Amino acid sequence: MLASNGRLKIAIQKGGRLTDDSLALLRACGFDFEFQKRSLYSPCRNFELDILALRDDDIPEYVQDGVADLGIVGENIVRERSAKVKKLLPLGYGKCRLTISVPRGANVRSIAGLKRKRIATTYPATLSHFLRSRQIKAEIITLSGAVELAPSLDVADAICDVVSTGTTARLSGLREIHTVMESEAALFTGRKTASDPKKMQLIESILIRISGSLQARGRRYMMLNAPSASVPKLKRIIPSLKSPTVVPLADEGMVAVHSVIAEDVFWDVMEKLKKAGASDIIVVPIETIIR
Ligand code: ATP
Ligand code: MG
Repeated sequence: MLASNGRLKIAIQKGGRLTDDSLALLRACGFDFEFQKRSLYSPCRNFELDILALRDDDIPEYVQDGVADLGIVGENIVRERSAKVKKLLPLGYGKCRLTISVPRGANVRSIAGLKRKRIATTYPATLSHFLRSRQIKAEIITLSGAVELAPSLDVADAICDVVSTGTTARLSGLREIHTVMESEAALFTGRKTASDPKKMQLIESILIRISGSLQARGRRYMMLNAPSASVPKLKRIIPSLKSPTVVPLADEGMVAVHSVIAEDVFWDVMEKLKKAGASDIIVVPIETIIR
């Protein structure tokens, strides 16, 4: 039994595709904890927050019922469990698609060809809702895993499963014919928590921290030295350098330019910056950006 000690509880996946990114996000928010995969919960030392480690399938219900105040889980799982939870923030990782695929040689080109076929899935509720919305009558075969093997075992004619790159499906000799939904990991809360002002105050401050570290993701802080005359040229090379911080250096006519840039842009423009007169270019990671 979990003590209801007024501390906030956030549920994350115990061990799976979302675990590392969820832990990294919480640590980037400054929460100090030791994550014990085998113990149900890990308390934060520097914040009134406990981290619950659960199977991802159970997270939507626990958040809905207020057992956990917050939960990080894929939108696909929330939809499948039809949980009454509120999405607070998409988190940008765990991106995948729930797709319908058929064996490469099958004579099915679109979802209309699925009529009276057998479709294997671990997402029966989402699939059934989708088929009903398209008025397609098909048989749903509910499996608990390894769905991509069902056609070759002649258990099904098609499958409905989550993919990210589609490599696994292709290797199993399958061809995608339709995307049922797109999904990513997101932060959810429930109704019970929303009616507790003390908890909502803690959630507000967690949201500021999470948004800050999401903003910083993929961005770098760049510092460089250049002759002051080349600043307009530098601005043309990096469009995001609209209003960089320009500081005079002790050397007459030289300035230091500071700005936030996207990581991928930096590698594209580095040579151009040097040609335009930039030197001593330093790029450092950003932990958080609070707007
Ligand atoms: P658990 O033991 O917690 O029930 P699981 O095996 O059901 O774990 P994982 O395979 O770890 O779940 O996937 C967790 C979530 O990661 C998925 O529900 C989905 O939101 C997301 N995801 C991202 N890419 C993929 C992918 N290629 N295949 C499956 N899920 C993916
Ligand atoms: Mg699961």
